[in-house]
Amino acid sequence: MTSSTPRSPTIAIIGGGIAGLTLTIALLKKCPHLPITLYESASAFGEIGAGVGFQPVQVRTMSLIDPRIATAFEKCNKGNTVTEPPRWFTVRVADQRKFAGSANGEIVLGKDEAGGKEKRIIRLGDEVFVMPARRGLGGGVHRAHFLDELVKLVPEGIAQFRKKLVDVTEAEDESGEAVLHFADGSTAQHGAVFGCDGIKSRTRAIVLSDDPCTNAVFSGKYAYRGLIPMSEAVAILGEDEPRTNQMYIGYHGHVLTFPIANGTLMNVVAFSSTPAWTDPNWVVQTSREDMLQDFTHWSPTVRAIMTSLQKPDIWALFNHPPAPTYYTTNPLICLVGDAAHASTPHQGSGAGMCIEDVYILSELLSQCHSSRDFESAFRAYDAVRRPRSQRLVKTSREAGQLWEFEGEGVGDDLEALERNAMKRMDWVWDYDILEDMDRARGIMREERE
Ligand SMILES: Cc1cc2nc3c(=O)[nH]c(=O)nc-3n(C[C@H](O)[C@H](O)[C@H](O)COP(=O)(O)OP(=O)(O)OC[C@H]3O[C@@H](n4cnc5c(N)ncnc54)[C@H](O)[C@@H]3O)c2cc1C
Repeated sequence: MTSSTPRSPTIAIIGGGIAGLTLTIALLKKCPHLPITLYESASAFGEIGAGVGFQPVQVRTMSLIDPRIATAFEKCNKGNTVTEPPRWFTVRVADQRKFAGSANGEIVLGKDEAGGKEKRIIRLGDEVFVMPARRGLGGGVHRAHFLDELVKLVPEGIAQFRKKLVDVTEAEDESGEAVLHFADGSTAQHGAVFGCDGIKSRTRAIVLSDDPCTNAVFSGKYAYRGLIPMSEAVAILGEDEPRTNQMYIGYHGHVLTFPIANGTLMNVVAFSSTPAWTDPNWVVQTSREDMLQDFTHWSPTVRAIMTSLQKPDIWALFNHPPAPTYYTTNPLICLVGDAAHASTPHQGSGAGMCIEDVYILSELLSQCHSSRDFESAFRAYDAVRRPRSQRLVKTSREAGQLWEFEGEGVGDDLEALERNAMKRMDWVWDYDILEDMDRARGIMREERE
């Protein structure tokens, strides 16, 4: 390096969840010229004891970032049942109220036999339809196990713990760099900051200057989450149902189950509705009795699943309003993952969007050597990633309503629900990220010319 060559900016990554860890792994591999420090507020890396699902499109993107990330996923997903053709969820009606008007507890679907549709009788708990998945490696993993595998890919000395970011200011030395201020009173100076600090992101508030869209809004839904040993789940549901993904739908609630931890556990997420969330905490403990109260009208199967959940917690589900930008340049700060676009989980793709963000961003950053390059990269990343990730936030919220008989123009019409469900994931799963990558590179090139 000559004295006239600008020094490559040093990188600060704030937050060590799926976004922060995968970004760290990506930059270590693709940008060896950019020194990195990861700052995490907790005393160690950690994820909750629950499941998370990734679809083949997202696992392929993990490979594009670093094949070791896809291998980490595969290691946690090995023993899960693979169906042919692949299924995302088998959808079953599990709310007794849907059968209230029927004398014999049956609903008849496909009545327009003239149109070639077969007539079908549906009873409580029956399969209504199957949402197909795409072929390829995908499925559920235990979050903590997956995170542990990612942590193994981060060398010692990169992460600093108990570093809760409280503010970022511009350095007074005219370098234009960012000064990070932590809750323990310490500071650190870096050329660029990546906010991977989740739905309650401090970096988002700084980038958006506390604009009203900074804070996440309540989606009207909350979830109980828990794990049931597979042997216990099989005793409740029989051999097949717990080993494949199930969605039990009803009025203002739905319950998802899918296998994780190499098929040894059944993950349960049971959703319910409330008009407002006033508790400042978004995760609160509840009793089994209160939880069962929410599922009074549901099938014996769903009630048995809920009864098996140990120590139920309620997770209030919030999402971000669309941000007008994902970055700022004075100093350089860029939002990644939930900090940029926290979504409800109803299309199972929030973490997948983190992975996509990281691929596009890390490829662009591999071409960056100066602050000006970073500005161009941020602009290209924002142009490509913001529309897609914000579309997920909007459509996920709609999906939450759809699965709970509240979908606009759909309600509890099972056939209309099926028609909507069968195509609503196409744009998420049939996505060609390489096309967006080319587009992003093109935007960055134009910026630099
Ligand atoms: C019920 C539920 C089910 C879901 N299921 C799926 C699914 O099946 N598939 C899917 O793709 N997505 C799913 N999601 C979404 C997915 O969990 C998130 O999109 C993803 O985990 C976000 O990762 P992240 O790294 O951006 O944020 P986080 O996981 O929130 O990580 C943020 C990190 O930043 C740290 N941090 C926070 N503030 C600071 C600070 N000021 N200073 C330093 N560090 C800080 C935190 O300690 C944490 O380690 C689900 C979400 C929910 C709620």
